[in-house]
Amino acid sequence: MIEDKNPQRTSIAQLGEFGLIDHLTKNFEINQESTLKGIGDDAAVLDFKDQKVVVSTDLLIEGVHFDLAYMPLKHLGYKSVVVNVSDICAMNARPTQITVSIAVSNRFPLEALEELFEGITLAAKEYKVDVIGGDTTSSQKGLIISITALGQANEDEIVYRNGAKETDLLVVTGDIGAAYMGLQVLEREKQVFQVNPNSQPDLDLYTYLIERQLKPEARKDVRTLLYALKIKPTAMIDISDSLSSKIIHICKQSKVGCNLYEDKLPLDPQFISVCEEFNIDSTTVAINGGEDYELLFTIKMEDFEKIKGNPNFSIIGHMVHESQGVNLVTRANTQIPLKARGWNALAE
Ligand code: ADP
Ligand code: MG
Repeated sequence: MIEDKNPQRTSIAQLGEFGLIDHLTKNFEINQESTLKGIGDDAAVLDFKDQKVVVSTDLLIEGVHFDLAYMPLKHLGYKSVVVNVSDICAMNARPTQITVSIAVSNRFPLEALEELFEGITLAAKEYKVDVIGGDTTSSQKGLIISITALGQANEDEIVYRNGAKETDLLVVTGDIGAAYMGLQVLEREKQVFQVNPNSQPDLDLYTYLIERQLKPEARKDVRTLLYALKIKPTAMIDISDSLSSKIIHICKQSKVGCNLYEDKLPLDPQFISVCEEFNIDSTTVAINGGEDYELLFTIKMEDFEKIKGNPNFSIIGHMVHESQGVNLVTRANTQIPLKARGWNALAE
């Protein structure tokens, strides 16, 4: 989706590869002290002094990870940065740099790529990461974006997935499920639009959900919040896929079990009412939906007093012995084994 209603269409072939790279990257600024050399040479040069470097990469394919029918390119650019920054945050590190690689078919005019890079630039600014390189090439069909993110942290600050202990508390940031319902709303509007291209969608009731789907944010603030509370999580992961699969990841890697409490799940009121409208169980979506980009972590039980009542965090369960398994404790107080169903399971 190109936002401009009367788009100019400049063929990218006109610019040539170098012209295109120059055009797309000329506005990137360098702000991190650790960036010695950014774009413009065979490789970037970084200096993290005595800190450790964390690196994460993601690949996004048109038609698999995003649909340009309802995803504006600017949002796509923003979101592709966010999903990578989120992985750095999930290590309890500070995001510092990204590289951006794209493959495009000649179906995309220059103006489309400008929009994509507008979103990338905006996210880079918001998260204070330097764009230090990338690659630009052609594809036969569709758009492919690969972003690599780097971050820094002291060795003792880094949090892995495997550190959770029996009796630790399970905590999640923000609220969950909304991004999935945002996608449902957008899918429905797309179908309406296919039947009647003149229809103007009224999306006022869904603004929060759609924003969670189209413009997610990474929880860069959590590192600072936890530092101020003097809490170091014992394990942490970001909720890119479903909450259930992420809990199971932590449990497997930490060799513990978990009890997750249905009545503790943090749900936004708009999310609850749209679940009702779609006649879909809110707990099922909260547990099996994805793409909320909140952080899920475990803390020692003795840190309970430091975190309780904090509006940024919800304690949603606790870890148990591995032999007890990974369970959802329902409102009716029955235990159901948690399955690692991704959001595809919701389509069944
Ligand atoms: P090379 O021939 O070494 O691959 P390029 O000519 O592809 O170099 O790239 C020139 C410079 O522009 C390099 O610093 C590279 O990292 C950067 N660059 C290329 N494509 C992108 C992109 N899509 N986003 C950011 N930087 C890019
Ligand atoms: Mg190159």
